[in-house]
Amino acid sequence: MKLLQSLLDLVYSRTCVLCARPLTHDEDVICRRCIDELPFTHYDFSDRHKLARILQAKAPIHKATSLLFYSKTGLSGKLIHKLKYHHHARVGPRLADFLAPRLMTDPPHIILPVPLHPRKLRLRGYNQTEGFARRLARHTGARFVPNALRKRRHTPSQTTKSPWERWQNVSQGFKLRTRSNWNGRHILLTDDVITTGATLAAIVQIIHHKFPRARISVASMAFNLPH
Ligand SMILES: [Zn+2]
Repeated sequence: MKLLQSLLDLVYSRTCVLCARPLTHDEDVICRRCIDELPFTHYDFSDRHKLARILQAKAPIHKATSLLFYSKTGLSGKLIHKLKYHHHARVGPRLADFLAPRLMTDPPHIILPVPLHPRKLRLRGYNQTEGFARRLARHTGARFVPNALRKRRHTPSQTTKSPWERWQNVSQGFKLRTRSNWNGRHILLTDDVITTGATLAAIVQIIHHKFPRARISVASMAFNLPH
């Protein structure tokens, strides 16, 4: 197997997505040196940190966590950019490997990725959050449900709108469709980068409206800490 792996490595030259150094056999997607440089949040899966408090102010959230602090010009920004715009789809599952152990304190039953608009999906070819969500489901034993949430229409730029208009804009952009009864279940909503939390809060409200007795938590690859 080792020989086969070495041959495969020669053919597909496995390199770190961040620094382009060759990866060793026990490294995957990101090299150990780059991992050591990543700005991990160390937020547990709970309601006791800044991210959870921000989200709870907007929607009835059970627990939250995020793997990295987002910085556009830093390593986490570079990583998310590779995932979204350079077809490095394996970054998502790799980040899920690091985040999954935190979820084991209260594992979810159902995992949903925040959907992309069909037009964006066509352009990019994949939803960057799906691979992350699917891998989290595999680690936690949850059911991965990629199509229950749909993005309805293109939401125009949010920059010039009032908070109420922004909320209307975001909440009307999503639709939940499922034949299952999720009351009493623990649902984990996953996203790539959380900035204001407005999108997630809108989706949480939609799920909560349909299943008031479901617990709804949130996990993301990165969190853009407000200044
Ligand atoms: Zn590296």
